[in-house]
Amino acid sequence: MKSAPFDYVRPESVAEASALLAQDGVTTAAIAGGQSLIPMLSLRAAQADLLVDVSRLDELKAVRETPQALHIGALTTHAAIEDGKIPDPFNGLMRRVASTISYRAVRNHGTIGGSVALADPAADWPGCLMALGATVHIAGPGGTRQQPVVDFVKGLYETTLASGEIVIGFDVPRPTSPLCWGFAKVVRKSGAFANSIAIVVAPGKGGPITAVLSAAGPRPIALANAARALGNGAMSDDTLRTAIAADLKADLPGADAYEQRLHTATVLRAAREMQATS
Ligand SMILES: Cc1cc2nc3c(=O)[nH]c(=O)nc-3n(C[C@H](O)[C@H](O)[C@H](O)COP(=O)(O)OP(=O)(O)OC[C@H]3O[C@@H](n4cnc5c(N)ncnc54)[C@H](O)[C@@H]3O)c2cc1C
Repeated sequence: MKSAPFDYVRPESVAEASALLAQDGVTTAAIAGGQSLIPMLSLRAAQADLLVDVSRLDELKAVRETPQALHIGALTTHAAIEDGKIPDPFNGLMRRVASTISYRAVRNHGTIGGSVALADPAADWPGCLMALGATVHIAGPGGTRQQPVVDFVKGLYETTLASGEIVIGFDVPRPTSPLCWGFAKVVRKSGAFANSIAIVVAPGKGGPITAVLSAAGPRPIALANAARALGNGAMSDDTLRTAIAADLKADLPGADAYEQRLHTATVLRAAREMQATS
């Protein structure tokens, strides 16, 4: 299929882009890597009268380190993260996640900002950034604001982005000691979106544990019971299964028997990988 006709503009600044996106009476969309938006326009799953190309804006490319955090510009591609072209205070977690996203051709152009702004429930970055406690930086007609990614992603393709707002980048807190992590992902075929993604992280031995499940519900789910059980040293699969079951019952009540087994297996694999590195 072909997309409906649209106009295209490439602004020179974030302020100009924001003003273009906020126009009354025009359906607008920012375009970054185009890896999701262009197929959606072609399939007519999305519609826009005007595409505002943000892919040349320097503010969205910035990557900088502070003692507290790594700032990752929204335009950072999956491939740049996979290839280690940005610093990696996360002991390889983000590189591993990036390397599993689709095919290299998609990773060459797709951006972390586009992924989180789209909030596809099967995307990798929203859950990963939630697990790492990241904050999103946003600029719009009303100025700038910051919000934890966990609050930014509201549901199925739904975020708190308002008209004219643009994702500038993310602040990802540095772990206080080497990050222990586990990552497990189930895909039906290589390069496809996942059916289940689990990330379990702990900042060093004995640190607070976070467990996040994606591709299960409309938005990533923080697994509080599983994290607590792991923090208490749950070593047996049965103990962990019971905790995961409690999380799924609370946060994914509609999951059928297959989905419960699938997600339980994914979380168990991620937990065991995390424990093996701690
Ligand atoms: C075949 C295929 C398989 C894929 N598999 C996976 C996968 O396994 N895991 C995964 O995570 N992703 C997957 N993706 C998605 C891919 O990672 C996309 O690159 C990503 O979701 C969107 O990034 P983009 O830069 O291409 O955004 P675009 O396609 O340009 O935009 C996507 C959306 O985000 C908005 N947007 C983009 N940038 C900004 C910004 N800075 N501020 C505000 N809004 C913005 C756009 O308006 C649009 O609504 C797959 C894509 C394809 C085509």
